[in-house]
Amino acid sequence: MSVAATTFFFVPLFFSLVALFACWLYYALRQRSPVGPRRSRIYRCAACGHVYADHRDRPLCRCAKCGAMNEALRR
Ligand SMILES: [Zn+2]
Repeated sequence: MSVAATTFFFVPLFFSLVALFACWLYYALRQRSPVGPRRSRIYRCAACGHVYADHRDRPLCRCAKCGAMNEALRR
């Protein structure tokens, strides 16, 4: 019966390690592309110098700090 006891101990351990590895692999692959499928534009405020990003595809975006309208630097 020692084989069955060992199996009941190691099989859940094995599957939890597999699940942990799958989670690690999932987040490691996600972090490889930080921008992701949706593109965001980078803005720099001309009034206060605040740099921010907005994923909405607009040529002008309002600064979060001072409220001035700014043009996108790049896509
Ligand atoms: Zn600003």
